[in-house]
Amino acid sequence: MNDTKTALVTGANKGIGFAIAQGLGAIGFTVAVGARDDARRADAVEHLHAAGVDAFGVALDVTSDDSVAAAARTVEQTAGRLDVLVNNAGISGRTDDGAQDPTTLDLDVVRTVLDTNVFGVVRVTNAMLPLLRRAHSPRIVNMSSDMGSLTRQTGPILAAYAPSKSMLNSITTQYARRLADTNVIVNAGCPGYVATDFTGFNAPRTPEQGAAIAIRLATLPDDGPRGAFFDEEGAVPW
Ligand code: NDP
Repeated sequence: MNDTKTALVTGANKGIGFAIAQGLGAIGFTVAVGARDDARRADAVEHLHAAGVDAFGVALDVTSDDSVAAAARTVEQTAGRLDVLVNNAGISGRTDDGAQDPTTLDLDVVRTVLDTNVFGVVRVTNAMLPLLRRAHSPRIVNMSSDMGSLTRQTGPILAAYAPSKSMLNSITTQYARRLADTNVIVNAGCPGYVATDFTGFNAPRTPEQGAAIAIRLATLPDDGPRGAFFDEEGAVPW
């Protein structure tokens, strides 16, 4: 088996996803840069190459079955297998008109947020699993949020986004249980409150700090934890 490990990061063109790509590249992974926009993807690959990272672009819109299937073919043709999948792509669905107030909830916003943050993860994971199963120590990391924690919910009222991350945590556990007798380890991670487009760059942590939990979960040992939700301080109750 080829020694070079390959990691696919979804939504890797900016923010925490880009920092995860850079961080995994710095420890020797070849990085498959999943991004839906051609120009933004090419730009990210160029920046990663300039930083000395072995990277290639993968056209990937997590809301499209066709795009996800094509992405799996691209990874297979380029790398032959997949060692790490980081499901990072996510949207807040936040608008200025209170569309995520539960008492006036716009269900189209809920559908859009779930399609990316939950169904997108399922689409990508299931398309990539055959490639992950070919790896020696495959890892799947789902980027969640402590807004998805039923006990820790803080911050703004976001009645589509917060439940989408609760569901993501639950789905993570379902995958871990289903894959319990395999070498595929699945966990969810919270990056903390990070300055990116997502937060209007108005948050205390850097993308590199946010990426650290994903990198740790992507490189867990074979006897590492499964089906849990972690931030940098350890397991998060949810
Ligand atoms: P950004 O908005 O900076 O980046 C989001 C990334 O996801 C972009 O690359 C975006 O691509 C991509 N994306 C969105 N929709 C799709 C799609 N349909 N298909 C493919 N890619 C898509 O967000 P962050 O980096 O801050 O967030 C990354 C993850 O971390 C998210 O899952 C978020 O929920 C989670 N998180 C972030 C926190 C924070 O404080 N920032 C806190 C807790 C969790 P494009 O450029 O094309 O839009």
